[in-house]
Amino acid sequence: MIKNNLKNLMEIWRILIAMMSNDVQVPLFRMKIRCPDCESWMVGVNGTKKSGKRRVEGFICKNPECLKERYERDLKKARQFIIRTSHEFQEMIRDNLKDLYKDLLKKGAKNKTIANKYSVSPSEISVLKTDVEMAIEKHRKLDSLVKVSQPDKAIAMDETFLEIEGKKVYIILAVGYTTRKVLGVKGSFTRKEQDMREVFDEAERNTRNLI
Ligand SMILES: [Zn+2]
Repeated sequence: MIKNNLKNLMEIWRILIAMMSNDVQVPLFRMKIRCPDCESWMVGVNGTKKSGKRRVEGFICKNPECLKERYERDLKKARQFIIRTSHEFQEMIRDNLKDLYKDLLKKGAKNKTIANKYSVSPSEISVLKTDVEMAIEKHRKLDSLVKVSQPDKAIAMDETFLEIEGKKVYIILAVGYTTRKVLGVKGSFTRKEQDMREVFDEAERNTRNLI
């Protein structure tokens, strides 16, 4: 019985959509849906689930091994989850956003080239680029208002955010103050001091490598 069911299983892929602060939606990455427990792609759709104020698509693991293991742990049902709790979601956000923002802020990088790499449209790349460039500009304006002496600020910390699957994701950036080169990036669900420190340390390492 189980074997028959498995025959009909197909990989499920979903596109992660970013909601920008100006309410523009940008489809970002394709992600294979996998069980958070066993990491298997043998999953099925499972109605909708409540997630905060929204209802989102639900999934259920169909890997017999996973179910067997859950029975052994006295859990009666197969693992159910949503995109946000699926395997890879966090890594996907962390790793892919880092690459994407590095590309977005690379000097002379064409929107079309970046768009091809991430399978999104050049106009969507343009939306993302404008957003992050504005975040950096805003910060510079503030700095010039308070007249901070520039030589002390070789590395500037900037930040913007997106919402992916209803979750706020901060893009923390360390940008060379005069070179405007991106030296460190992190896509993060938190914006704690530790997150900033991590990006700053990456920037410092990169600055050292440049010398
Ligand atoms: Zn599983």
